[in-house]
Amino acid sequence: MLGRGVLSTLYTLSQQKTYTLTLYLDIDQNKQANRRRGYVVQGEALIKGLKAQQKRSDRLDSACKQALSLVRNLKPKGKTALIVVHPESKLRELVQIELSFPISIHWRRGAFLRPVVEAMDEHERYGVVLTDNQRARLFTVVMGELTEHEDLFSETGQRTRSLGADQMRSQKRHDQRHQEEIASHAKRVIDALHDLSLRQPYDRLIVGGTPKASGQLVRLLPTRLRGKLVDTVSVRVGGSQKEILNKILAVQLRMERDRETEIVQGVLAELHDRGKAVAGFAAVLDAVNQGRVWTLIYGKGYTNKAGECGSCDAYSPHAKGPCVYCGEDVHPLPQCIDRLSQSVVEMGGRVEVVDGDAKKKLEKPGGIAAMLRY
Ligand SMILES: [Zn+2]
Repeated sequence: MLGRGVLSTLYTLSQQKTYTLTLYLDIDQNKQANRRRGYVVQGEALIKGLKAQQKRSDRLDSACKQALSLVRNLKPKGKTALIVVHPESKLRELVQIELSFPISIHWRRGAFLRPVVEAMDEHERYGVVLTDNQRARLFTVVMGELTEHEDLFSETGQRTRSLGADQMRSQKRHDQRHQEEIASHAKRVIDALHDLSLRQPYDRLIVGGTPKASGQLVRLLPTRLRGKLVDTVSVRVGGSQKEILNKILAVQLRMERDRETEIVQGVLAELHDRGKAVAGFAAVLDAVNQGRVWTLIYGKGYTNKAGECGSCDAYSPHAKGPCVYCGEDVHPLPQCIDRLSQSVVEMGGRVEVVDGDAKKKLEKPGGIAAMLRY
């Protein structure tokens, strides 16, 4: 699991004058291409490509060799493997992450951790509670990873039915006691949620379990916790961690899609003469060159041909020919979307990659757009 601790270690250790090798590999075993160790082939190809671009060096050779040996010995569990190697400080680390990142390789000063840091900032932390009348389980979900924190039981008796008119009164007393026990269980669960929020702060809360017990819990939630509540889900209290995580990820995905649709609608609404947005590759490149991009938005998988000027560093919507700004030659810019994103982030902007419905909506104006600062 990738925590802030591991990240800061990687960051500190790799802040050396000499270069660090960073690799992001897609190891998702749900993808056919990655089974039978396809990710090893992927890693080898990335390294071959990198070596072709760089001057030959023993350091690079040694870093690549170490990285490949980590990859070969990997037992894939997550979606992405992040590999960081810095030969001099003997730093060689492989971390599996439960999130997808674009495949990439970097040979530069300091480990290339921006994608992970951004993902950590973007991924809200979820508290999850599943409850029935007796039992409650508490979890957190951070960056696609589920952690169970507590499994508590309350001494709630079974609700029974007795027959006969003379037993009516005792039945009523029994029912009342049962209701009190259920309410006291719900209060215990709320206390546990409070404790959890102190130990492992979470931004949002999801409640699940049996409809009655979870409904009761939601009604009793104090304001602060109720403000975090985003959804109730139907999932068994005794469900497996995988089952529970899948439900939570589905809620997150739906929320993310809603947010993306909102962002794209916001851009589309600004695409008029005096609007604060531009769309289409050339217009977006222009805005990036001018440092005007506040949010860069593109559909997942978007690619295009682009060039970078060797003289003024401006991006051009063509891979060859003269720079539109200074007339010098441009050279092709591979992985142009990554480079554009990096430029936008470096200028304090944001990048939104959209999928699903939002991506479709964005296709008409060219699949890429930008909200402008001015
Ligand atoms: Zn130029």
